[in-house]
Amino acid sequence: MAVTYELIAKQNKARAGIITTPHGNIETPVFMPVGTQSTVKAMTYDQVRACGTEISLANTYHLFLRPGADLIAKAGGLHKWTNFEKPFLTDSGGFQIFSQMRINKCKISDSGAEFIDTVTGQKHFMSPEDSILTQNKLGADIIMAFDHCPQGNATHEEAREAMLRTHAWAERCVQAHARAEDQALFLIVQGGIYEDLRKQSAEFISGLNVPGFAIGGVSVGESREDIDRIVEFTTPLLPENKPRYLMGIGTKEDIVKAIAAGIDMFDCVMPTRIARHGGFFDFNGERMQIKNQKYTEDFSPLVEGCPCYTCVNHSRAYVRHLWKVHEITAGTLLSIHNLTYLINLAKEIRGNIISGTFDPVKYLNT
Ligand SMILES: [Zn+2]
Repeated sequence: MAVTYELIAKQNKARAGIITTPHGNIETPVFMPVGTQSTVKAMTYDQVRACGTEISLANTYHLFLRPGADLIAKAGGLHKWTNFEKPFLTDSGGFQIFSQMRINKCKISDSGAEFIDTVTGQKHFMSPEDSILTQNKLGADIIMAFDHCPQGNATHEEAREAMLRTHAWAERCVQAHARAEDQALFLIVQGGIYEDLRKQSAEFISGLNVPGFAIGGVSVGESREDIDRIVEFTTPLLPENKPRYLMGIGTKEDIVKAIAAGIDMFDCVMPTRIARHGGFFDFNGERMQIKNQKYTEDFSPLVEGCPCYTCVNHSRAYVRHLWKVHEITAGTLLSIHNLTYLINLAKEIRGNIISGTFDPVKYLNT
């Protein structure tokens, strides 16, 4: 069964749609939790499901190194391996590999990228074909092309070089993909902060016949203004009848602006990462800190009216106590709340788009 997309409502540039996959439907816009090592950190997949999750990510880079894609294939693929039978998306591994540029541990050529396993120090090589083969073995419903993501401060020439390589690799990824009947390959637009390059990249990538598209190389160190400008500029250049995924963004502000620009899918490690450091979102998406002394005798939930397991069952005082005595459950409870917040934010906006009442300014001003 192929992965398909249906656009069901539009308000200005914002879209509501449904992605159909072999493991169920995804209503978009959607926030996707990141399960780096085939688990969302500090959570069981039962807990992830209970947050209203419709799709989970897993990271090819990490699973390629440990335990290896062959073992997961032997287990029956990611869905059986994790017992999460909803849709999965795997990234290509490229982002993690190229982030080693910062520590000068990654060598890129047109054939692929050499990198080190930062745990063992061992050298590895990954080509576009290797990434796709690995993702074919992992078996996610949506897989991503191996792209060259330049750093946020890349010059025009550096961004152009990375874009051209991304285009050449995109064609190789399409060629190498051996499971097109049940895995959707999404291709990625690059081009840094430069509108001429983003336009060129969107045109090239859109010309390749795949089930979905992504905007990569955003929020990699460039300014807030550049992020907004590039997302607003690039998104409408992508085909209307295919899903659009903005990779690696996830604050409330990012999500609202991206949806308003016409994005359908986002992911970010931020909500669960800040949870493991005691951070939680208030009703307004502002980041609060559970260890704050003012919560010592505060028996109200993290957010009044929040439907998540944590808020229904526990108080700020209780979660703060767990945090203060280093109980790992504190990170779990805060992760449940933060994921639920962002998943529900996307769902609420979806409802607003369908009823024609989505007002981005209202979300950004409150
Ligand atoms: Zn909650």
